Amino acid sequence: QTVKLDAYSETDFVFESVFLTIRLFDGSAEIESEIRLRRREGSGADAPLVLDGDELTLTFLKLDGDRLPDADYDAEPGGLTIRSLPAAEAFTLTIGTRIVPEENTKLMGLYRSNGIWCTQCEAEGFRRITYFYDRPDVLIPYKVRIEAPKVAAPILLSNGNPGETGDLDSGRHFAVWDDPFNKPSYLFAMVAGDLERVGDTFRTASGHDVTLAIFTDKGRSHQAGYAMDALKRSMAWDERRFGREYDLDVFNIVAISDFNMGAMENKGLNVFNHKYVLLDPDTATDQDYAGVETVIAHEYFHNWTGNRITCRDWFQLCLKEGLTVFRDQEFSSDERERTVQRIGSVRRLKSMQFPEDQGPLQHPVRPSEYREISNFYTATIYDKGAELVRMIATLLGPEDFRAGMDLYFERHDGDAATIEAFVKVFEDVAGIDLSSFALWYHQAGTPTLTVTEAYDEAEDRYTLTLAQSLKQGAAGTGTKPMLMPVKIGLVGPNGEDRPLNPSQGGEIREDVIQLSEAEETFVFDKVGGRPYLSVLRDFSAPVTLDHDQSESDRLALARLDPNPFNRWRILNDLIGERLAAAAGGTSEPAQNPLGDELVTAILETAGDDRLDPAFRAQVLNVPADTEIARLIGENVDPLRVYETATRARKTIATAGTQVFERLVAAAPADAAFSPDAASAGKRALANAALGFATLSDGHPDRAFARFEKASNMTDRQAALAILVFRFPEHETTHRALDAFYARYEDDALVLDKWFALQAAAPGEDTLDRVQKLSTHPRFTLKNPNRARSLIGSFAGMNPTAFHRRDGRGYAWFCERLIELDAINPQISARMATAFRAWRTLESERRAKAEDALRDLAKLPHLSRDLRDIVDRTLA
Ligand code: ZN
Repeated sequence: QTVKLDAYSETDFVFESVFLTIRLFDGSAEIESEIRLRRREGSGADAPLVLDGDELTLTFLKLDGDRLPDADYDAEPGGLTIRSLPAAEAFTLTIGTRIVPEENTKLMGLYRSNGIWCTQCEAEGFRRITYFYDRPDVLIPYKVRIEAPKVAAPILLSNGNPGETGDLDSGRHFAVWDDPFNKPSYLFAMVAGDLERVGDTFRTASGHDVTLAIFTDKGRSHQAGYAMDALKRSMAWDERRFGREYDLDVFNIVAISDFNMGAMENKGLNVFNHKYVLLDPDTATDQDYAGVETVIAHEYFHNWTGNRITCRDWFQLCLKEGLTVFRDQEFSSDERERTVQRIGSVRRLKSMQFPEDQGPLQHPVRPSEYREISNFYTATIYDKGAELVRMIATLLGPEDFRAGMDLYFERHDGDAATIEAFVKVFEDVAGIDLSSFALWYHQAGTPTLTVTEAYDEAEDRYTLTLAQSLKQGAAGTGTKPMLMPVKIGLVGPNGEDRPLNPSQGGEIREDVIQLSEAEETFVFDKVGGRPYLSVLRDFSAPVTLDHDQSESDRLALARLDPNPFNRWRILNDLIGERLAAAAGGTSEPAQNPLGDELVTAILETAGDDRLDPAFRAQVLNVPADTEIARLIGENVDPLRVYETATRARKTIATAGTQVFERLVAAAPADAAFSPDAASAGKRALANAALGFATLSDGHPDRAFARFEKASNMTDRQAALAILVFRFPEHETTHRALDAFYARYEDDALVLDKWFALQAAAPGEDTLDRVQKLSTHPRFTLKNPNRARSLIGSFAGMNPTAFHRRDGRGYAWFCERLIELDAINPQISARMATAFRAWRTLESERRAKAEDALRDLAKLPHLSRDLRDIVDRTLA
């Protein structure tokens, strides 16, 4: 049942083209797939054709127009095997299947959401529509004819360019779509429904006019304007930055309300979770705006990194995902503010990827085996994958990196490629050997970078030693030293970067040390006085830093480092370390776990009007409890972590009363709304300040006033979160929650926020409220966004309630998980990763979590998805 990388072999038959006819009816769909194919030269003359299927029913099977005798094939729900096929010449198979989109609760393949027929095929959903070689290395042109009732589905969409349309009998009509680009089955898509359309156009750099459209549910198209703007900016950016133009006459996006993931890059027809399309100031936060911009860009960028060049097999998933995340991060950095974007990406990496890389679900960026590929759409593949591309860019510098990307597009356009091919283009353009870098793709785990410094005052000589080490983890994939870029600066007392010309240890290009050995030492002569070392600038490699730097050096750098990312990083690391030390012990934690000087430095930065407000908001954003837990590493008591972090926040609040009063007053809640990054930064700072001001005055009134006055969802939700998190049982909070509900009851995306906030409120008592909410008439496990908003938020974002000491959090969660697993295994498996840090808990909770997991593992009917996660979490 385990799929292995080294078992890869080409298909026995070569597909040349496919013509799909999809007939949609209320309650069923008939699919006719006409495949042109021939036996591959060199494969055995009697090898059968073995096609993938998943829960399929065959209705007929023809070879060159004639029905095949029953003895020549075996049709199972999970596959179709055909024998006695022609030895050499090309032939045509026509395969009929019948499916029920209305009953497809897994939301993979062809399903119906809100009356709309739509598809999700990545990774292995196409086999739920028809029997096929459902693997990414089978690249062919698709022609598609959709037939559907006109009233239910006036809009009929598929990949490529639109062709013939027309009427049929009995109130039905049809549309034909032609995709001239070879593609794998996972990029197939079809949508049919009564949708509203927003149109626009884009002229490419070479003068080709592209018709753009976003399709939404009825009455929602006014919320698609920002997504359209983001699309046009993405198209222009990919031309400027990577020389990549769009290649079809049309580009369509459809917003769907039931969707497993964020969105999908199907050729010419991107299908989106409506959460990443629909926005307006009254219903969406600044974070939602940034999310839409990122996901629109990400899916669009896949047209080149994913579609034109795809993956040979699913082991290469990071080839398209890591690279495309890198591209969308660069887009957001260019469109917004680079340092703030980098802080966001690093926070995400450390909070999502580091725990994965350091726990039982560890896997390399390019895995070599899997049981269920859906479980590998992970932070490691996406976010660490993006970091690896970023490291290549840092090691090569911008010109060689661009040349390498150009060569990648030139050499591999139309290919189903591999990671080796990707790394090779950079070796070729730069004339270097990247084999020790390539280990990053194969060795799982977070390396530790140990930094040691010495300064010889008499000689004015500064010595820097960098050492790397990697511990063997759950994946057992090796621990060799890997080439990594370490960006550094030697900073003088006035915040100036000194020249980096070591007399021993090798050359440093710009500010990047190319560390390749287990340990390397650099000696700098006549440095002009003891410098402050600013290391790992911009988080140039995804490592854990072990740097025994004095507090006074760190606090000095927090004020003077010319690298603004590191000013944030140094403060954030200090806060994390102090909180972990205070929350990890067993003795009574100190009254002020941060220490006075650190608090002063935080407040100075937060109050410094010369700095970007968004940056200052990030400084005030204390590391999440789960991050502190990860830093503690063992015997974690989540309640103690929460209490320690709260005490630290209170200390900041009390010491900074004046700063916070001023910041709150400077940003009135009823100010006019603009979604740009600078305005969003001001709101983020004001709302962070409001949180601290509320902590020091201990009263909900101010947050409630702001909640009522808010002109936009960002301020409204921020105020509501303060009420729900700090005063969960206060009458004022109930008033605010009821008002919010009454106003947004019919807006699914906003109602998700209402559920999610309540489920994330810290404290063991939240379980009772969440239990009650799970019986709310608006709650359902069938809609992934809604399920995530309550159950996902509870288990994934609320350590105090999920890890209740009495184990009731686990018990309740596991019951929901089992219900969910019968509906939608991808979502249940994803949610079960909430257990991934169970071994780091203190003994009482650890035992309860283990019992809960073992009880799950014993159940006979778990999906393959969920079983894979449970087994690996326990292993
Ligand atoms: Zn992607």
